[in-house]
Amino acid sequence: MDRSVPGSASLRRMREALRGGADLATATGLVLPPGPRCPARARWASSGLAVDACEIVAFELGLKPVVFLVVDAWELPRWRARLATAHCVVDPRPDGRFGFFAARQPELAEEAAALQREDPTRHVRRLGILMGYPPCCIEAFAAQDDRGDDARNRYACAARTRGPAPWPWPLCDAALRLVPFFPCRYDCAAALTFAHHVLAELEIREPGTTERLRARLERAIFFVDEGIALGVGPDDCLIVATRSIVGLETLGATLACADRIRDEGDTLVGWRGPDRIFAIPRCAPRLGLCLPFR
Ligand SMILES: [Zn+2]
Repeated sequence: MDRSVPGSASLRRMREALRGGADLATATGLVLPPGPRCPARARWASSGLAVDACEIVAFELGLKPVVFLVVDAWELPRWRARLATAHCVVDPRPDGRFGFFAARQPELAEEAAALQREDPTRHVRRLGILMGYPPCCIEAFAAQDDRGDDARNRYACAARTRGPAPWPWPLCDAALRLVPFFPCRYDCAAALTFAHHVLAELEIREPGTTERLRARLERAIFFVDEGIALGVGPDDCLIVATRSIVGLETLGATLACADRIRDEGDTLVGWRGPDRIFAIPRCAPRLGLCLPFR
């Protein structure tokens, strides 16, 4: 199974093509068969848990010495109020947004803000420690040739994952992230422990959360880019998209005919029960990542 990390240029071309109205299957190199399609089984994922919620829960549990969020100006009062007992540092960023740091120990929030301001690449290991990330995950992330593209970071994590499928669903990060960092592998024991702590706390705060998240995350994911993913489960194909993409629903309706999908190198294969029901050829640029969280 080829899980090589695509070049930044290849991802950039795909993004430009999609922005220009190209079809999703064409832009990723999937050669969709004429049929069948199961549109009734393709559903848009509801928004669910807020992205930042897990970061805050992890901090409140003591798993993270420092909270780090990138927020807009209008969000700052809300975060200051939410973390009123912590020491907060707000740093304007070149992109017009704000780095928001909070810690129980003021010197740790100040240190994280200073390192981030100075050179986050050079200080990636110390920042990882301040954020409470597992040492194995910090090392793997620091060793990457490029860390600035979140989609590429996921390809890199998948390429490092050697364990057999299915991978543990609490580390499925296509729709939301229970761990606020990129694991060294999608089956990393330390990252999974972190996720289980966050999940247990979420369950205490809102009973039923675990089952709700399992239904959403325990799936074979076809991940395309940040904010574009499809999750194939036993009953439906969940479409996760933060913007409109040409051909997304067609691909969703195609994958929805299966109850699981698998990357077989030059084809994306779907099964329903014991039956192999499609094999979608993959050609250049061969983008999109099949993540077996089921
Ligand atoms: Zn790890």
